[in-house]
Amino acid sequence: MSYWATGRSRRLCKIIRNSKSLRKLHVKSYGCQMNIYDSHRMVDLLTRDSYVETTVPEDADLIILNTCHIREKAVEKVYSELGRISKLKHEAKRAGRNPIVAVAGCVAQAEGEEIVRRAPVVDMVIGPQNYHRLPALLAQVESGAKVVDTELPLLDKFAHLAPATVTAIRARGVTAFVTVQEGCDKFCTFCVVPYTRGAEVSRPVATIVAEVENLVRAGVREITLIGQNVNAYHGKGANGRLVTLSHLLNRLAKVPGVFRLRYTTSHPRDMDENLIAAHRDLAILMPQLHLPVQSGSDRMLVAMNRRHTRAEYLNLIARLRAARPDMALTSDFIVGFPDETEEDFRDTLHIVDEVGFAGAFSFKYSPRPGTPAADRRDQIADEVKTERLARLQDCIDRHQRAFNRNCIGRSLEVLLEKPGRNPGQLVGRSPYLQPVQVMAPSSLIGEIATAQITDVGSNSLFGALHSMEPRAPALAGTGG
Ligand code: SF4
Repeated sequence: MSYWATGRSRRLCKIIRNSKSLRKLHVKSYGCQMNIYDSHRMVDLLTRDSYVETTVPEDADLIILNTCHIREKAVEKVYSELGRISKLKHEAKRAGRNPIVAVAGCVAQAEGEEIVRRAPVVDMVIGPQNYHRLPALLAQVESGAKVVDTELPLLDKFAHLAPATVTAIRARGVTAFVTVQEGCDKFCTFCVVPYTRGAEVSRPVATIVAEVENLVRAGVREITLIGQNVNAYHGKGANGRLVTLSHLLNRLAKVPGVFRLRYTTSHPRDMDENLIAAHRDLAILMPQLHLPVQSGSDRMLVAMNRRHTRAEYLNLIARLRAARPDMALTSDFIVGFPDETEEDFRDTLHIVDEVGFAGAFSFKYSPRPGTPAADRRDQIADEVKTERLARLQDCIDRHQRAFNRNCIGRSLEVLLEKPGRNPGQLVGRSPYLQPVQVMAPSSLIGEIATAQITDVGSNSLFGALHSMEPRAPALAGTGG
Protein backbone atom coordinates (compact mmCIF):
# COMPACT_ATOMS: atom_id res chain seq x y z
CA MET A 1 0.00 0.00 0.00
CA SER A 2 1.34 3.47 -0.73
CA TYR A 3 0.01 6.82 0.41
CA TRP A 4 0.62 9.87 -1.68
CA ALA A 5 0.30 12.20 1.27
CA THR A 6 0.40 11.61 4.96
CA GLY A 7 -3.07 12.01 6.48
CA ARG A 8 -4.10 12.93 9.98
CA SER A 9 -4.73 10.11 12.42
CA ARG A 10 -7.46 7.55 11.69
CA ARG A 11 -9.06 8.36 15.00
CA LEU A 12 -9.54 11.98 14.06
CA CYS A 13 -11.01 10.94 10.72
CA LYS A 14 -13.45 8.60 12.44
CA ILE A 15 -14.65 11.42 14.67
CA ILE A 16 -15.16 13.60 11.58
CA ARG A 17 -17.02 10.76 9.81
CA ASN A 18 -19.30 10.02 12.69
CA SER A 19 -20.24 13.66 13.00
CA LYS A 20 -21.74 13.60 9.50
CA SER A 21 -25.12 12.25 8.45
CA LEU A 22 -25.44 9.29 6.11
CA ARG A 23 -23.66 9.92 2.84
CA LYS A 24 -24.46 8.54 -0.58
CA LEU A 25 -22.53 5.85 -2.38
CA HIS A 26 -22.68 5.08 -6.10
CA VAL A 27 -20.89 1.98 -7.43
CA LYS A 28 -20.63 1.44 -11.18
CA SER A 29 -19.64 -2.10 -12.03
CA TYR A 30 -18.08 -3.29 -15.30
CA GLY A 31 -17.40 -6.78 -16.58
CA CYS A 32 -17.92 -10.20 -15.10
CA GLN A 33 -20.02 -11.65 -12.29
CA MET A 34 -17.00 -11.51 -10.00
CA ASN A 35 -16.99 -7.75 -10.29
CA ILE A 36 -20.73 -7.60 -9.61
CA TYR A 37 -20.14 -9.75 -6.52
CA ASP A 38 -17.28 -7.50 -5.39
CA SER A 39 -19.46 -4.42 -5.93
CA HIS A 40 -22.16 -5.93 -3.72
CA ARG A 41 -19.57 -6.69 -1.03
CA MET A 42 -18.31 -3.09 -1.13
CA VAL A 43 -21.88 -1.79 -0.83
CA ASP A 44 -22.55 -4.20 2.06
CA LEU A 45 -19.42 -3.02 3.85
CA LEU A 46 -19.95 0.71 3.37
CA THR A 47 -23.69 0.78 3.99
CA ARG A 48 -22.86 -0.52 7.46
CA ASP A 49 -20.40 2.32 7.84
CA SER A 50 -22.34 5.51 7.24
CA TYR A 51 -23.31 5.30 3.56
CA VAL A 52 -26.57 4.65 1.70
CA GLU A 53 -26.57 3.46 -1.90
CA THR A 54 -27.74 5.71 -4.73
CA THR A 55 -28.19 4.94 -8.41
CA VAL A 56 -27.61 8.62 -9.28
CA PRO A 57 -23.91 9.49 -9.57
CA GLU A 58 -24.67 13.24 -9.41
CA ASP A 59 -26.02 12.75 -5.85
CA ALA A 60 -23.14 10.66 -4.60
CA ASP A 61 -20.57 11.58 -1.97
CA LEU A 62 -18.51 8.55 -2.97
CA ILE A 63 -18.29 7.20 -6.52
CA ILE A 64 -16.57 3.86 -7.08
CA LEU A 65 -15.82 2.59 -10.58
CA ASN A 66 -15.33 -1.16 -10.28
CA THR A 67 -13.41 -1.76 -13.49
CA CYS A 68 -12.74 -4.71 -15.78
CA HIS A 69 -9.59 -5.25 -17.85
CA ILE A 70 -10.85 -8.01 -20.15
CA ARG A 71 -12.54 -6.06 -22.90
CA GLU A 72 -10.76 -4.16 -25.64
CA LYS A 73 -9.64 -0.62 -24.80
CA ALA A 74 -10.75 -1.18 -21.17
CA VAL A 75 -8.21 1.27 -19.80
CA GLU A 76 -9.13 4.07 -22.22
CA LYS A 77 -12.81 3.57 -21.41
CA VAL A 78 -12.06 4.06 -17.72
CA TYR A 79 -10.19 7.30 -18.42
CA SER A 80 -13.00 8.61 -20.57
CA GLU A 81 -15.52 7.79 -17.78
CA LEU A 82 -13.22 9.61 -15.35
CA GLY A 83 -13.36 12.64 -17.67
CA ARG A 84 -17.15 12.67 -17.23
CA ILE A 85 -16.82 12.22 -13.48
CA SER A 86 -14.34 15.11 -13.34
CA LYS A 87 -17.02 17.44 -14.76
CA LEU A 88 -19.55 16.02 -12.32
CA LYS A 89 -17.15 16.64 -9.41
CA HIS A 90 -16.55 20.17 -10.61
CA GLU A 91 -20.32 20.84 -10.57
CA ALA A 92 -20.62 19.27 -7.11
CA LYS A 93 -17.86 21.50 -5.79
CA ARG A 94 -19.69 24.57 -7.06
CA ALA A 95 -22.66 23.34 -5.01
CA GLY A 96 -20.45 23.03 -1.93
CA ARG A 97 -19.86 19.26 -2.01
CA ASN A 98 -16.65 17.34 -2.63
CA PRO A 99 -17.42 13.75 -3.67
CA ILE A 100 -14.67 11.15 -3.31
CA VAL A 101 -13.78 9.27 -6.51
CA ALA A 102 -12.34 5.75 -6.29
CA VAL A 103 -11.22 3.34 -9.02
CA ALA A 104 -11.39 -0.34 -8.05
CA GLY A 105 -11.10 -3.65 -9.90
CA CYS A 106 -8.66 -5.02 -12.45
CA VAL A 107 -7.80 -1.73 -14.21
CA ALA A 108 -6.97 -0.29 -10.78
CA GLN A 109 -4.71 -3.26 -10.13
CA ALA A 110 -3.00 -3.03 -13.52
CA GLU A 111 -2.58 0.76 -13.69
CA GLY A 112 -2.00 1.62 -10.01
CA GLU A 113 -0.50 5.07 -9.41
CA GLU A 114 -0.69 5.89 -13.12
CA ILE A 115 -4.44 6.46 -12.68
CA VAL A 116 -3.89 9.20 -10.12
CA ARG A 117 -1.25 10.77 -12.35
CA ARG A 118 -3.42 10.75 -15.47
CA ALA A 119 -6.73 11.54 -13.75
CA PRO A 120 -6.24 13.89 -10.79
CA VAL A 121 -9.98 13.64 -10.07
CA VAL A 122 -9.28 10.19 -8.58
CA ASP A 123 -8.77 10.12 -4.81
CA MET A 124 -8.31 6.39 -4.36
CA VAL A 125 -7.10 3.42 -6.39
CA ILE A 126 -7.88 0.08 -4.79
CA GLY A 127 -7.09 -3.40 -6.10
CA PRO A 128 -9.57 -6.31 -5.99
CA GLN A 129 -7.90 -8.02 -3.01
CA ASN A 130 -8.13 -5.00 -0.74
CA TYR A 131 -11.82 -4.03 -0.50
CA HIS A 132 -11.99 -4.95 3.17
CA ARG A 133 -9.68 -1.96 3.78
CA LEU A 134 -12.12 0.53 2.24
CA PRO A 135 -13.27 2.22 5.49
CA ALA A 136 -9.69 2.78 6.63
CA LEU A 137 -8.60 4.01 3.20
CA LEU A 138 -11.57 6.37 2.99
CA ALA A 139 -10.49 7.85 6.29
CA GLN A 140 -7.08 8.53 4.73
CA VAL A 141 -8.72 10.21 1.75
CA GLU A 142 -10.94 12.34 3.96
CA SER A 143 -7.84 13.63 5.68
CA GLY A 144 -6.45 14.85 2.36
CA ALA A 145 -4.42 11.88 1.13
CA LYS A 146 -4.47 10.29 -2.30
CA VAL A 147 -4.42 6.55 -1.69
CA VAL A 148 -3.17 3.78 -3.96
CA ASP A 149 -3.59 0.28 -2.51
CA THR A 150 -2.88 -2.47 -5.03
CA GLU A 151 -1.06 -5.06 -2.95
CA LEU A 152 -2.08 -8.67 -3.51
CA PRO A 153 -2.16 -9.92 0.09
CA LEU A 154 -2.65 -13.63 0.67
CA LEU A 155 -5.00 -12.99 3.56
CA ASP A 156 -8.65 -13.89 3.05
CA LYS A 157 -10.34 -10.56 2.37
CA PHE A 158 -13.73 -12.24 2.61
CA ALA A 159 -13.27 -12.85 6.32
CA HIS A 160 -13.13 -9.07 6.75
CA LEU A 161 -16.13 -8.13 4.61
CA ALA A 162 -19.59 -7.65 6.07
CA PRO A 163 -22.35 -10.19 5.30
CA ALA A 164 -25.20 -8.77 3.21
CA THR A 165 -28.29 -7.64 5.09
CA VAL A 166 -31.68 -9.25 4.44
CA THR A 167 -32.85 -6.02 2.77
CA ALA A 168 -29.86 -5.94 0.43
CA ILE A 169 -30.21 -9.63 -0.47
CA ARG A 170 -33.94 -9.29 -1.21
CA ALA A 171 -33.32 -6.25 -3.41
CA ARG A 172 -30.88 -8.35 -5.48
CA GLY A 173 -33.33 -11.17 -6.17
CA VAL A 174 -33.71 -14.90 -5.70
CA THR A 175 -30.45 -15.86 -7.40
CA ALA A 176 -27.02 -14.95 -6.08
CA PHE A 177 -23.36 -15.29 -6.95
CA VAL A 178 -20.92 -16.40 -4.29
CA THR A 179 -17.21 -16.04 -4.95
CA VAL A 180 -15.42 -19.17 -3.74
CA GLN A 181 -12.10 -18.76 -5.51
CA GLU A 182 -10.05 -15.91 -6.92
CA GLY A 183 -7.00 -15.59 -9.09
CA CYS A 184 -5.40 -17.85 -11.63
CA ASP A 185 -2.17 -19.83 -11.98
CA LYS A 186 -2.75 -20.86 -15.60
CA PHE A 187 -1.11 -17.94 -17.44
CA CYS A 188 -2.85 -18.24 -20.79
CA THR A 189 -0.73 -16.08 -23.04
CA PHE A 190 -3.56 -13.66 -23.92
CA CYS A 191 -4.94 -13.04 -20.42
CA VAL A 192 -4.25 -10.42 -17.75
CA VAL A 193 -6.08 -12.15 -14.91
CA PRO A 194 -3.02 -13.82 -13.31
CA TYR A 195 -1.42 -10.36 -13.13
CA THR A 196 -4.46 -8.40 -11.93
CA ARG A 197 -6.05 -10.95 -9.59
CA GLY A 198 -2.93 -12.80 -8.46
CA ALA A 199 -2.44 -16.48 -7.62
CA GLU A 200 -5.32 -18.90 -7.03
CA VAL A 201 -6.81 -18.53 -3.56
CA SER A 202 -9.86 -20.43 -2.27
CA ARG A 203 -12.18 -19.61 0.60
CA PRO A 204 -12.71 -22.18 3.38
CA VAL A 205 -15.83 -24.35 3.06
CA ALA A 206 -17.27 -23.15 6.38
CA THR A 207 -17.34 -19.47 5.38
CA ILE A 208 -18.98 -20.30 2.05
CA VAL A 209 -21.62 -22.44 3.76
CA ALA A 210 -22.31 -19.61 6.23
CA GLU A 211 -22.70 -17.12 3.37
CA VAL A 212 -25.04 -19.44 1.46
CA GLU A 213 -27.14 -20.06 4.59
CA ASN A 214 -27.42 -16.29 5.08
CA LEU A 215 -28.57 -15.85 1.46
CA VAL A 216 -31.09 -18.68 1.65
CA ARG A 217 -32.59 -17.36 4.90
CA ALA A 218 -33.33 -14.12 3.03
CA GLY A 219 -35.04 -15.94 0.13
CA VAL A 220 -32.27 -16.78 -2.37
CA ARG A 221 -32.99 -20.07 -4.15
CA GLU A 222 -30.23 -20.43 -6.73
CA ILE A 223 -26.53 -20.09 -5.93
CA THR A 224 -23.85 -19.74 -8.60
CA LEU A 225 -20.37 -20.33 -7.27
CA ILE A 226 -17.92 -18.10 -9.07
CA GLY A 227 -14.19 -17.81 -9.50
CA GLN A 228 -11.77 -16.92 -12.29
CA ASN A 229 -10.93 -20.61 -12.26
CA VAL A 230 -13.73 -21.94 -10.12
CA ASN A 231 -13.07 -25.63 -10.67
CA ALA A 232 -9.51 -25.17 -9.42
CA TYR A 233 -11.16 -24.60 -6.02
CA HIS A 234 -9.08 -25.98 -3.16
CA GLY A 235 -10.50 -24.69 0.12
CA LYS A 236 -10.10 -25.84 3.69
CA GLY A 237 -12.71 -28.42 4.66
CA ALA A 238 -14.13 -29.28 8.08
CA ASN A 239 -11.07 -31.25 9.21
CA GLY A 240 -8.58 -28.67 7.95
CA ARG A 241 -7.73 -30.69 4.83
CA LEU A 242 -8.03 -29.11 1.39
CA VAL A 243 -11.12 -30.17 -0.56
CA THR A 244 -12.13 -29.71 -4.19
CA LEU A 245 -15.15 -28.14 -5.87
CA SER A 246 -17.07 -31.43 -6.01
CA HIS A 247 -16.82 -31.71 -2.22
CA LEU A 248 -18.03 -28.12 -1.82
CA LEU A 249 -20.99 -28.73 -4.15
CA ASN A 250 -21.97 -31.86 -2.24
CA ARG A 251 -21.81 -29.92 1.02
CA LEU A 252 -23.88 -27.01 -0.32
CA ALA A 253 -26.47 -29.40 -1.73
CA LYS A 254 -27.30 -30.24 1.89
CA VAL A 255 -28.11 -26.64 2.87
CA PRO A 256 -31.89 -26.57 3.39
CA GLY A 257 -33.66 -24.21 1.01
CA VAL A 258 -31.09 -24.25 -1.81
CA PHE A 259 -33.02 -25.25 -4.95
CA ARG A 260 -30.29 -24.93 -7.55
CA LEU A 261 -26.50 -24.82 -7.81
CA ARG A 262 -24.28 -23.70 -10.69
CA TYR A 263 -20.61 -22.75 -11.00
CA THR A 264 -18.57 -20.67 -13.42
CA THR A 265 -15.98 -20.18 -14.99
CA SER A 266 -14.17 -23.48 -15.38
CA HIS A 267 -10.95 -24.58 -17.05
CA PRO A 268 -10.98 -27.91 -18.92
CA ARG A 269 -7.84 -29.11 -17.10
CA ASP A 270 -9.55 -28.83 -13.72
CA MET A 271 -12.63 -30.94 -14.58
CA ASP A 272 -11.81 -33.98 -12.44
CA GLU A 273 -13.78 -37.23 -12.26
CA ASN A 274 -15.45 -36.29 -8.96
CA LEU A 275 -16.74 -33.06 -10.47
CA ILE A 276 -18.10 -34.93 -13.49
CA ALA A 277 -19.72 -37.42 -11.09
CA ALA A 278 -21.35 -34.51 -9.21
CA HIS A 279 -23.24 -33.69 -12.41
CA ARG A 280 -24.56 -37.24 -12.39
CA ASP A 281 -25.32 -37.46 -8.66
CA LEU A 282 -26.58 -34.03 -7.60
CA ALA A 283 -30.05 -33.28 -8.93
CA ILE A 284 -29.77 -29.62 -7.89
CA LEU A 285 -26.54 -29.11 -9.81
CA MET A 286 -27.93 -27.70 -13.05
CA PRO A 287 -27.14 -29.46 -16.35
CA GLN A 288 -25.32 -26.46 -17.75
CA LEU A 289 -21.61 -25.74 -17.90
CA HIS A 290 -19.54 -22.89 -19.27
CA LEU A 291 -16.29 -24.56 -20.28
CA PRO A 292 -14.15 -22.27 -22.44
CA VAL A 293 -12.05 -23.95 -25.13
CA GLN A 294 -10.96 -20.69 -26.87
CA SER A 295 -9.87 -22.43 -30.10
CA GLY A 296 -10.40 -25.73 -31.90
CA SER A 297 -6.83 -25.81 -33.22
CA ASP A 298 -4.14 -27.71 -31.33
CA ARG A 299 -1.52 -25.30 -32.68
CA MET A 300 -3.43 -22.32 -31.25
CA LEU A 301 -4.11 -24.13 -27.96
CA VAL A 302 -0.35 -24.58 -27.52
CA ALA A 303 0.31 -20.93 -28.46
CA MET A 304 -2.33 -19.84 -25.96
CA ASN A 305 -0.77 -22.06 -23.26
CA ARG A 306 -4.10 -23.74 -22.62
CA ARG A 307 -2.31 -27.01 -21.78
CA HIS A 308 -4.91 -29.34 -23.24
CA THR A 309 -5.55 -30.61 -26.75
CA ARG A 310 -8.65 -30.52 -28.87
CA ALA A 311 -9.03 -34.30 -28.44
CA GLU A 312 -8.76 -34.02 -24.65
CA TYR A 313 -11.47 -31.36 -24.64
CA LEU A 314 -13.78 -33.49 -26.79
CA ASN A 315 -13.12 -36.50 -24.57
CA LEU A 316 -14.06 -34.41 -21.55
CA ILE A 317 -17.32 -33.35 -23.22
CA ALA A 318 -18.12 -37.01 -23.93
CA ARG A 319 -17.55 -37.94 -20.27
CA LEU A 320 -19.72 -35.03 -19.09
CA ARG A 321 -22.51 -36.07 -21.43
CA ALA A 322 -22.22 -39.67 -20.30
CA ALA A 323 -22.74 -38.41 -16.73
CA ARG A 324 -25.52 -35.98 -17.65
CA PRO A 325 -26.86 -36.52 -21.18
CA ASP A 326 -28.83 -33.27 -21.38
CA MET A 327 -25.86 -31.07 -20.40
CA ALA A 328 -25.96 -27.64 -22.12
CA LEU A 329 -22.41 -26.55 -22.89
CA THR A 330 -21.20 -23.05 -23.60
CA SER A 331 -17.74 -21.70 -24.34
CA ASP A 332 -15.57 -18.66 -25.03
CA PHE A 333 -13.70 -18.30 -28.31
CA ILE A 334 -10.90 -16.03 -29.45
CA VAL A 335 -10.46 -15.55 -33.20
CA GLY A 336 -7.43 -14.04 -34.88
CA PHE A 337 -4.91 -15.05 -32.23
CA PRO A 338 -1.36 -14.31 -33.53
CA ASP A 339 -0.41 -16.59 -36.44
CA GLU A 340 -3.90 -18.16 -36.68
CA THR A 341 -4.29 -19.58 -40.18
CA GLU A 342 -7.51 -20.25 -42.08
CA GLU A 343 -7.00 -23.93 -41.29
CA ASP A 344 -6.67 -23.21 -37.55
CA PHE A 345 -9.82 -21.13 -37.74
CA ARG A 346 -11.70 -23.92 -39.53
CA ASP A 347 -10.73 -26.25 -36.67
CA THR A 348 -12.57 -23.80 -34.41
CA LEU A 349 -15.68 -23.92 -36.62
CA HIS A 350 -15.49 -27.72 -36.60
CA ILE A 351 -15.31 -27.97 -32.82
CA VAL A 352 -18.44 -25.80 -32.55
CA ASP A 353 -20.19 -28.24 -34.89
CA GLU A 354 -18.85 -31.29 -33.07
CA VAL A 355 -19.88 -30.13 -29.59
CA GLY A 356 -23.08 -28.36 -30.64
CA PHE A 357 -22.69 -25.60 -28.08
CA ALA A 358 -25.87 -24.15 -26.60
CA GLY A 359 -24.23 -20.73 -26.80
CA ALA A 360 -20.83 -19.07 -26.71
CA PHE A 361 -19.05 -15.75 -26.31
CA SER A 362 -16.67 -14.96 -29.15
CA PHE A 363 -14.18 -12.15 -29.50
CA LYS A 364 -11.50 -10.88 -31.82
CA TYR A 365 -8.10 -11.27 -30.22
CA SER A 366 -6.83 -7.94 -28.92
CA PRO A 367 -3.43 -7.61 -27.26
CA ARG A 368 -3.35 -6.94 -23.52
CA PRO A 369 -0.21 -5.05 -22.50
CA GLY A 370 2.03 -7.17 -20.29
CA THR A 371 0.84 -10.52 -21.65
CA PRO A 372 3.18 -12.70 -23.77
CA ALA A 373 0.94 -12.75 -26.87
CA ALA A 374 0.80 -8.94 -26.97
CA ASP A 375 4.49 -8.79 -27.95
CA ARG A 376 4.21 -11.18 -30.90
CA ARG A 377 4.96 -9.74 -34.29
CA ASP A 378 2.68 -12.11 -36.21
CA GLN A 379 -0.55 -10.32 -35.29
CA ILE A 380 -3.52 -10.94 -37.59
CA ALA A 381 -4.96 -8.07 -39.64
CA ASP A 382 -8.15 -6.65 -38.19
CA GLU A 383 -10.21 -7.23 -41.34
CA VAL A 384 -9.30 -10.93 -41.22
CA LYS A 385 -10.36 -11.12 -37.57
CA THR A 386 -13.64 -9.35 -38.36
CA GLU A 387 -14.45 -11.72 -41.19
CA ARG A 388 -13.63 -14.82 -39.10
CA LEU A 389 -15.62 -13.55 -36.13
CA ALA A 390 -18.70 -13.09 -38.32
CA ARG A 391 -18.40 -16.66 -39.63
CA LEU A 392 -17.89 -18.06 -36.14
CA GLN A 393 -20.85 -16.15 -34.74
CA ASP A 394 -23.08 -17.45 -37.55
CA CYS A 395 -22.02 -20.97 -36.66
CA ILE A 396 -22.59 -20.44 -32.91
CA ASP A 397 -25.99 -18.80 -33.53
CA ARG A 398 -27.07 -21.75 -35.67
CA HIS A 399 -26.34 -24.19 -32.85
CA GLN A 400 -27.88 -21.94 -30.21
CA ARG A 401 -31.10 -21.63 -32.22
CA ALA A 402 -31.20 -25.39 -32.71
CA PHE A 403 -30.68 -26.00 -28.99
CA ASN A 404 -33.47 -23.57 -28.11
CA ARG A 405 -35.85 -24.89 -30.78
CA ASN A 406 -35.37 -28.40 -29.39
CA CYS A 407 -36.93 -27.17 -26.15
CA ILE A 408 -40.28 -26.44 -27.86
CA GLY A 409 -42.86 -28.93 -26.61
CA ARG A 410 -40.74 -29.94 -23.62
CA SER A 411 -41.69 -29.35 -20.00
CA LEU A 412 -38.94 -27.49 -18.21
CA GLU A 413 -38.58 -26.49 -14.59
CA VAL A 414 -38.29 -22.72 -14.33
CA LEU A 415 -37.09 -20.80 -11.30
CA LEU A 416 -39.27 -17.69 -11.43
CA GLU A 417 -37.11 -14.66 -10.76
CA LYS A 418 -38.80 -11.33 -11.52
CA PRO A 419 -41.50 -9.54 -13.51
CA GLY A 420 -41.23 -10.06 -17.27
CA ARG A 421 -41.58 -7.58 -20.12
CA ASN A 422 -45.39 -7.56 -20.21
CA PRO A 423 -48.00 -7.13 -17.45
CA GLY A 424 -48.80 -10.42 -15.73
CA GLN A 425 -45.61 -12.01 -17.01
CA LEU A 426 -42.74 -13.41 -14.97
CA VAL A 427 -39.31 -14.32 -16.24
CA GLY A 428 -37.27 -17.16 -14.88
CA ARG A 429 -34.47 -19.47 -15.92
CA SER A 430 -34.60 -22.98 -17.27
CA PRO A 431 -32.12 -25.58 -15.95
CA TYR A 432 -30.02 -24.69 -19.02
CA LEU A 433 -29.93 -21.00 -18.00
CA GLN A 434 -32.23 -19.84 -20.81
CA PRO A 435 -34.58 -16.98 -19.83
CA VAL A 436 -38.18 -18.24 -19.91
CA GLN A 437 -41.20 -15.90 -20.04
CA VAL A 438 -44.46 -17.21 -18.56
CA MET A 439 -47.78 -15.72 -17.44
CA ALA A 440 -47.78 -16.13 -13.67
CA PRO A 441 -48.65 -14.17 -10.51
CA SER A 442 -45.81 -12.34 -8.77
CA SER A 443 -46.48 -14.43 -5.65
CA LEU A 444 -44.61 -17.23 -7.45
CA ILE A 445 -41.31 -15.34 -7.57
CA GLY A 446 -38.73 -17.57 -5.90
CA GLU A 447 -40.62 -20.77 -6.74
CA ILE A 448 -39.83 -23.46 -9.27
CA ALA A 449 -42.68 -24.11 -11.67
CA THR A 450 -42.98 -26.47 -14.60
CA ALA A 451 -43.62 -24.78 -17.91
CA GLN A 452 -44.47 -26.23 -21.28
CA ILE A 453 -42.25 -24.43 -23.80
CA THR A 454 -44.38 -23.09 -26.62
CA ASP A 455 -42.12 -20.75 -28.58
CA VAL A 456 -38.63 -19.34 -28.90
CA GLY A 457 -37.68 -15.68 -29.29
CA SER A 458 -34.30 -14.19 -30.09
CA ASN A 459 -33.09 -14.36 -26.49
CA SER A 460 -35.84 -16.10 -24.53
CA LEU A 461 -38.14 -19.08 -24.47
CA PHE A 462 -41.87 -18.66 -23.97
CA GLY A 463 -43.83 -21.13 -21.89
CA ALA A 464 -47.18 -21.93 -20.32
CA LEU A 465 -47.15 -22.81 -16.65
CA HIS A 466 -48.82 -26.08 -15.89
CA SER A 467 -47.82 -27.09 -12.44
CA MET A 468 -46.07 -26.06 -9.27
CA GLU A 469 -43.76 -28.36 -7.42
CA PRO A 470 -43.47 -27.22 -3.82
CA ARG A 471 -40.02 -27.82 -2.38
CA ALA A 472 -39.38 -29.38 1.00
CA PRO A 473 -37.23 -27.05 3.10
CA ALA A 474 -34.79 -29.76 4.16
CA LEU A 475 -32.61 -32.04 2.06
CA ALA A 476 -33.77 -30.25 -1.04
CA GLY A 477 -30.28 -30.45 -2.39
CA THR A 478 -29.48 -34.11 -2.35
CA GLY A 479 -29.85 -35.73 -5.69
CA GLY A 480 -30.44 -39.23 -6.84
S1 SF4 B 1 -7.43 -19.86 -17.21
FE1 SF4 B 1 -8.83 -18.15 -17.60
S2 SF4 B 1 -8.33 -16.60 -16.05
FE2 SF4 B 1 -6.61 -18.03 -16.11
S3 SF4 B 1 -5.13 -17.14 -17.53
FE3 SF4 B 1 -6.42 -18.55 -18.74
S4 SF4 B 1 -8.12 -17.28 -19.55
FE4 SF4 B 1 -7.10 -16.10 -17.88
